[in-house]
Amino acid sequence: MSVSFMYLCRMTEKTQESLLAEGLMLPIMEEFYTIQGEGNHTGKAAYFIRIGGCDVGCHWCDVKESWNAKLHPATMADSVIENAASHAKTVVITGGEPLMWNLDYITNSLQSKGLKTHIETSGAYPLSGTWDWICLSPKKTKLPQAPVLKAAHELKVIIYNKNDFKFAEEQAAKVSDHCELYLQPEWSKKNKMTPLIVDYVMKNPQWKISLQTHKFLNIP
Ligand code: SF4
Repeated sequence: MSVSFMYLCRMTEKTQESLLAEGLMLPIMEEFYTIQGEGNHTGKAAYFIRIGGCDVGCHWCDVKESWNAKLHPATMADSVIENAASHAKTVVITGGEPLMWNLDYITNSLQSKGLKTHIETSGAYPLSGTWDWICLSPKKTKLPQAPVLKAAHELKVIIYNKNDFKFAEEQAAKVSDHCELYLQPEWSKKNKMTPLIVDYVMKNPQWKISLQTHKFLNIP
Protein backbone atom coordinates (compact mmCIF):
# COMPACT_ATOMS: atom_id res chain seq x y z
CA MET A 1 0.00 0.00 0.00
CA SER A 2 1.49 3.37 -0.99
CA VAL A 3 2.03 6.12 1.60
CA SER A 4 -0.32 8.52 -0.23
CA PHE A 5 -3.10 5.87 -0.36
CA MET A 6 -2.73 5.26 3.40
CA TYR A 7 -2.83 9.04 3.99
CA LEU A 8 -6.02 9.31 1.90
CA CYS A 9 -7.63 6.42 3.86
CA ARG A 10 -6.73 8.08 7.17
CA MET A 11 -8.13 11.42 6.00
CA THR A 12 -11.36 9.74 4.82
CA GLU A 13 -11.68 7.97 8.17
CA LYS A 14 -11.11 11.25 10.00
CA THR A 15 -13.63 13.10 7.86
CA GLN A 16 -16.18 10.36 8.52
CA GLU A 17 -15.46 10.53 12.25
CA SER A 18 -16.02 14.27 12.36
CA LEU A 19 -19.21 14.01 10.26
CA LEU A 20 -20.46 11.37 12.73
CA ALA A 21 -19.52 13.59 15.69
CA GLU A 22 -21.48 16.48 14.18
CA GLY A 23 -24.46 14.26 13.40
CA LEU A 24 -24.15 14.95 9.68
CA MET A 25 -23.59 11.21 9.28
CA LEU A 26 -25.22 8.47 11.35
CA PRO A 27 -24.74 4.67 11.38
CA ILE A 28 -28.11 3.73 9.93
CA MET A 29 -29.21 0.15 10.48
CA GLU A 30 -32.53 0.45 8.69
CA GLU A 31 -35.25 2.91 7.75
CA PHE A 32 -38.82 2.02 6.91
CA TYR A 33 -42.31 3.44 6.76
CA THR A 34 -44.79 1.62 8.96
CA ILE A 35 -47.26 2.05 11.81
CA GLN A 36 -46.07 2.96 15.31
CA GLY A 37 -47.10 -0.18 17.15
CA GLU A 38 -46.63 0.75 20.81
CA GLY A 39 -46.98 3.45 23.40
CA ASN A 40 -48.85 6.74 23.24
CA HIS A 41 -48.77 7.06 19.43
CA THR A 42 -49.93 3.52 18.68
CA GLY A 43 -51.64 3.29 15.31
CA LYS A 44 -49.97 6.34 13.78
CA ALA A 45 -48.16 6.06 10.45
CA ALA A 46 -44.48 6.90 10.96
CA TYR A 47 -41.12 6.68 9.25
CA PHE A 48 -38.73 4.71 11.47
CA ILE A 49 -35.01 5.42 11.46
CA ARG A 50 -33.02 2.82 13.36
CA ILE A 51 -29.53 3.93 14.35
CA GLY A 52 -26.89 1.33 15.23
CA GLY A 53 -25.01 1.24 18.53
CA CYS A 54 -26.12 0.26 22.02
CA ASP A 55 -24.25 -0.78 25.16
CA VAL A 56 -27.22 -0.96 27.53
CA GLY A 57 -27.24 -4.76 27.28
CA CYS A 58 -30.88 -5.81 27.94
CA HIS A 59 -30.79 -9.62 27.90
CA TRP A 60 -34.22 -9.78 26.22
CA CYS A 61 -33.33 -7.21 23.53
CA ASP A 62 -35.04 -8.05 20.23
CA VAL A 63 -32.61 -5.99 18.11
CA LYS A 64 -29.24 -7.29 19.33
CA GLU A 65 -27.93 -6.93 15.78
CA SER A 66 -28.09 -3.15 16.36
CA TRP A 67 -25.56 -3.19 19.20
CA ASN A 68 -22.34 -2.90 17.18
CA ALA A 69 -22.52 0.48 15.43
CA LYS A 70 -19.56 -0.47 13.18
CA LEU A 71 -21.74 -3.03 11.41
CA HIS A 72 -24.05 -0.29 10.13
CA PRO A 73 -23.00 2.04 7.33
CA ALA A 74 -22.24 5.65 8.16
CA THR A 75 -24.90 7.38 6.09
CA MET A 76 -25.39 11.06 5.26
CA ALA A 77 -28.24 12.35 7.44
CA ASP A 78 -29.51 14.42 4.50
CA SER A 79 -30.36 11.32 2.48
CA VAL A 80 -32.33 9.84 5.40
CA ILE A 81 -34.12 13.17 5.92
CA GLU A 82 -35.15 13.23 2.23
CA ASN A 83 -36.41 9.66 2.42
CA ALA A 84 -38.44 10.41 5.55
CA ALA A 85 -39.93 13.61 4.14
CA SER A 86 -41.08 11.81 1.00
CA HIS A 87 -43.05 9.27 3.06
CA ALA A 88 -44.32 10.59 6.36
CA LYS A 89 -45.41 13.39 8.65
CA THR A 90 -43.96 11.72 11.74
CA VAL A 91 -40.50 10.26 12.21
CA VAL A 92 -39.53 7.87 15.00
CA ILE A 93 -35.80 7.72 15.70
CA THR A 94 -34.92 4.50 17.47
CA GLY A 95 -32.05 2.04 17.88
CA GLY A 96 -30.00 0.70 19.33
CA GLU A 97 -29.63 3.63 21.67
CA PRO A 98 -30.02 6.68 19.42
CA LEU A 99 -28.77 9.17 22.03
CA MET A 100 -25.27 7.74 21.61
CA TRP A 101 -25.22 10.05 18.59
CA ASN A 102 -25.61 13.77 18.04
CA LEU A 103 -29.21 14.14 16.86
CA ASP A 104 -29.35 17.95 16.64
CA TYR A 105 -28.88 18.18 12.88
CA ILE A 106 -31.28 15.44 11.83
CA THR A 107 -34.12 16.58 14.12
CA ASN A 108 -33.76 20.28 13.27
CA SER A 109 -33.79 19.45 9.57
CA LEU A 110 -36.81 17.16 9.91
CA GLN A 111 -38.73 19.79 11.85
CA SER A 112 -37.84 22.49 9.32
CA LYS A 113 -39.54 20.29 6.71
CA GLY A 114 -42.67 20.14 8.89
CA LEU A 115 -42.14 16.62 10.26
CA LYS A 116 -42.80 15.66 13.87
CA THR A 117 -39.77 14.17 15.59
CA HIS A 118 -40.22 11.31 18.04
CA ILE A 119 -37.53 9.31 19.82
CA GLU A 120 -37.46 5.95 21.60
CA THR A 121 -34.60 5.96 24.08
CA SER A 122 -33.32 4.35 27.25
CA GLY A 123 -32.14 7.83 28.30
CA ALA A 124 -28.72 6.48 29.19
CA TYR A 125 -26.86 9.14 27.18
CA PRO A 126 -27.01 12.96 27.09
CA LEU A 127 -30.07 14.40 25.41
CA SER A 128 -29.47 15.87 21.96
CA GLY A 129 -32.00 16.78 19.29
CA THR A 130 -35.22 18.79 19.18
CA TRP A 131 -38.19 16.60 19.94
CA ASP A 132 -41.95 16.70 19.58
CA TRP A 133 -42.16 13.46 21.57
CA ILE A 134 -39.69 11.70 23.84
CA CYS A 135 -40.57 8.14 24.75
CA LEU A 136 -38.26 7.09 27.58
CA SER A 137 -37.95 3.36 28.15
CA PRO A 138 -35.53 3.12 31.09
CA LYS A 139 -33.37 0.07 31.69
CA LYS A 140 -31.95 -1.17 34.99
CA THR A 141 -28.57 -1.99 33.43
CA LYS A 142 -27.86 1.66 32.53
CA LEU A 143 -30.17 4.14 34.21
CA PRO A 144 -31.56 7.20 32.46
CA GLN A 145 -29.93 10.59 32.87
CA ALA A 146 -31.87 13.27 34.79
CA PRO A 147 -32.41 15.66 31.83
CA VAL A 148 -34.04 12.87 29.80
CA LEU A 149 -36.31 11.93 32.73
CA LYS A 150 -37.40 15.57 33.07
CA ALA A 151 -38.00 16.03 29.33
CA ALA A 152 -39.85 12.73 28.71
CA HIS A 153 -43.40 12.97 27.38
CA GLU A 154 -43.90 9.26 27.86
CA LEU A 155 -42.41 6.72 30.26
CA LYS A 156 -42.69 3.18 28.91
CA VAL A 157 -41.43 0.48 31.24
CA ILE A 158 -40.97 -3.04 29.92
CA ILE A 159 -42.34 -5.65 32.32
CA TYR A 160 -40.31 -8.86 32.17
CA ASN A 161 -40.95 -10.02 35.74
CA LYS A 162 -42.76 -8.86 38.88
CA ASN A 163 -39.80 -6.79 40.12
CA ASP A 164 -40.24 -4.50 37.15
CA PHE A 165 -43.39 -2.95 38.70
CA LYS A 166 -41.21 -1.58 41.50
CA PHE A 167 -38.67 -0.29 39.00
CA ALA A 168 -41.53 1.35 37.06
CA GLU A 169 -42.71 3.24 40.14
CA GLU A 170 -39.14 4.35 40.97
CA GLN A 171 -38.77 5.80 37.47
CA ALA A 172 -42.26 7.35 37.50
CA ALA A 173 -41.27 9.30 40.63
CA LYS A 174 -38.54 11.01 38.60
CA VAL A 175 -40.47 12.15 35.51
CA SER A 176 -42.56 15.30 35.17
CA ASP A 177 -46.24 15.43 36.20
CA HIS A 178 -47.48 15.55 32.59
CA CYS A 179 -45.51 12.46 31.49
CA GLU A 180 -47.76 9.63 30.25
CA LEU A 181 -47.08 6.34 32.05
CA TYR A 182 -47.11 2.98 30.24
CA LEU A 183 -46.38 -0.60 31.23
CA GLN A 184 -45.58 -2.95 28.36
CA PRO A 185 -45.14 -6.72 28.62
CA GLU A 186 -41.84 -8.02 27.27
CA TRP A 187 -42.87 -9.97 24.18
CA SER A 188 -41.60 -13.42 25.23
CA LYS A 189 -43.29 -13.04 28.65
CA LYS A 190 -46.53 -11.50 27.43
CA ASN A 191 -48.77 -14.45 28.31
CA LYS A 192 -47.53 -14.43 31.90
CA MET A 193 -47.14 -10.68 32.47
CA THR A 194 -50.12 -9.19 30.59
CA PRO A 195 -52.75 -10.33 33.15
CA LEU A 196 -50.56 -8.90 35.94
CA ILE A 197 -50.27 -5.58 34.09
CA VAL A 198 -54.04 -5.45 33.49
CA ASP A 199 -54.62 -5.98 37.20
CA TYR A 200 -51.95 -3.41 38.13
CA VAL A 201 -53.35 -0.73 35.80
CA MET A 202 -56.87 -1.22 37.17
CA LYS A 203 -55.53 -0.70 40.68
CA ASN A 204 -53.17 2.13 39.65
CA PRO A 205 -54.99 3.98 36.87
CA GLN A 206 -52.26 6.59 36.42
CA TRP A 207 -50.63 3.81 34.35
CA LYS A 208 -51.81 2.53 30.96
CA ILE A 209 -50.97 -0.69 29.20
CA SER A 210 -48.95 -0.63 25.98
CA LEU A 211 -48.89 -3.64 23.66
CA GLN A 212 -46.57 -4.30 20.75
CA THR A 213 -49.44 -4.22 18.28
CA HIS A 214 -47.10 -4.25 15.26
CA LYS A 215 -46.06 -7.78 16.26
CA PHE A 216 -49.72 -8.89 16.35
CA LEU A 217 -50.23 -7.16 12.97
CA ASN A 218 -47.09 -8.82 11.62
CA ILE A 219 -45.61 -5.57 10.37
CA PRO A 220 -42.12 -4.17 11.09
S1 SF4 B 1 -31.68 -0.36 25.18
FE1 SF4 B 1 -32.93 -1.11 23.49
S2 SF4 B 1 -31.46 -1.66 21.84
FE2 SF4 B 1 -30.30 -1.41 23.74
S3 SF4 B 1 -30.16 -3.49 24.57
FE3 SF4 B 1 -31.94 -2.54 25.55
S4 SF4 B 1 -33.70 -3.10 24.24
FE4 SF4 B 1 -31.80 -3.49 23.05
